[in-house]
Amino acid sequence: MSTRRQFVQWIPVTVCGLAAGSQALAQANLVDPKSPQAAGLGYVADATKADKAKYKNYAAGQACSNCALYQGKPADAAAGCPLFAGKQVAGKGWCSAYAKKG
Ligand code: SF4
Repeated sequence: MSTRRQFVQWIPVTVCGLAAGSQALAQANLVDPKSPQAAGLGYVADATKADKAKYKNYAAGQACSNCALYQGKPADAAAGCPLFAGKQVAGKGWCSAYAKKG
């Protein structure tokens, strides 16, 4: 039988569990550069690692955080991008579809 005391003890455990779960989800939601879609676009989580030989349009200083398609604020570590629905790209990332903001 569940007593009030047991119930009160149960709440913090659940809240912690949910917080840990959502953190894991945010991590899991990052685009995997090795996924076929990301690889096809030349996406890298670190713009400086972009394949400059293959993607001649890359220029130093370009990153998801200053791309017109980046859905977060420039200071956000990660945010959505319409090319990767339901996923997040790294603010420091880059892909060949980069479009300069503004
Ligand atoms: Fe990053 Fe822009 Fe490519 Fe999206 S389109 S992954 S925001 S560089």
